[in-house]
Amino acid sequence: MFTLAIVGRPNVGKSTLFNRLVGRKLALVDDQPGVTRDLREGEGRLADLRFTVIDTAGLEEITDDSLQGRMRRLTERAVDMADVCLFMIDARTGITPSDEVFADILRRRSSRVILAANKAEGSAADAGVIEAYSLGLGEPLRVSAEHGEGMSELMSILRPIS
Ligand code: GDP
Ligand code: MG
Repeated sequence: MFTLAIVGRPNVGKSTLFNRLVGRKLALVDDQPGVTRDLREGEGRLADLRFTVIDTAGLEEITDDSLQGRMRRLTERAVDMADVCLFMIDARTGITPSDEVFADILRRRSSRVILAANKAEGSAADAGVIEAYSLGLGEPLRVSAEHGEGMSELMSILRPIS
């Protein structure tokens, strides 16, 4: 078993992927003090693969102007709990300054990062996927959390870690 943390700025689709991976087997990490309350933990599965998945919830109300502080601490906490981080960007929006902040946290703090370009269904996402290379975190994995695209590719990346 390994632990996968889903990180990234608000609204990129983290919780949508979390829900897809976890189904209904969701545990709120509500017995922990401080920032950990805003991490949701569940038992993830992709076909025969089993793992713990962490969603950095509670970021939704934080605007792009206040990325420091709570959001950074929450993300760092998730990264430290994880064996591998899935860093999600919104391929329809492209790379934002907030994404750069998250990329920086991950470059400093996490050994294994999967860069996932979400909302990648259809050609409207193509430019954003190309842009994601500029984060310096390797080749972006095209996924659509909402439509379930890219899940077998994600499984191929996760399998050697398990
Ligand atoms: P979070 O704030 O990162 O947890 O993002 P959410 O999971 O709450 O999703 C934010 C918005 O993006 C919601 O309106 C989702 O329906 C939408 N969304 C999530 N995944 C996809 C996707 O694969 N494609 C598209 N087009 N929209 C998505
Ligand atoms: Mg969320």
